[in-house]
Amino acid sequence: MARLFVISGPSGAGKGTLIKGILEQRPDLAVVATSATTRPMRPGEVDGREYFFLAPETFERRVDDGEFVEWVEFAGNRYGTLKSEVDRLLAEGANVILELEVDGSLVIQDSRPDACLIFIDTDPAELRRRLISRQTEDDGEIDVRLEIAAQQSQDKLRFDHVVYNDEVERAVAELLATLERELDR
Ligand code: 5GP
Repeated sequence: MARLFVISGPSGAGKGTLIKGILEQRPDLAVVATSATTRPMRPGEVDGREYFFLAPETFERRVDDGEFVEWVEFAGNRYGTLKSEVDRLLAEGANVILELEVDGSLVIQDSRPDACLIFIDTDPAELRRRLISRQTEDDGEIDVRLEIAAQQSQDKLRFDHVVYNDEVERAVAELLATLERELDR
């Protein structure tokens, strides 16, 4: 049976890096579902790869049509998981990874109780450093993301596993071991 994994945690905790790290070691393990968003495309991003980039009206219409498993407003933009995308990948027999912010992950926990939720954590000073060094947000946006991270840090208690991203190689190994243990169950 294909499994659904939700990997969450604050913006800047390193979710994307850790997911990339585990799939480099085990490309057969799972596929990452592409979400939809209204946020502007960043340099180097490709429509349909990092996200399906939608105009706000299109996103709204697809919400009204019930096309999302969950969607949220995060730091001024909308992000959502398309049912069609998740169901297509699971039907192909692939284990699916969703990379989501915290509120959307908790919605998945309610609607798909068989999903395994993993929280990627790191300390606030490290979060700030990472958000500054990746140069994808301006100072105001970084402050918004740090504020959200502080508000949501209690929510990690609701996750099945917490992986602390202190050092990438070690955290990749721990995340991989966690997924493999879940798949063996
Ligand atoms: P970014 O703008 O940095 O790409 O993403 C901002 C946040 O939105 C990240 O924490 C990312 O994991 C989260 N995110 C991406 N796609 C989705 C989605 O479909 N649903 C939810 N709830 N969060 C998402």
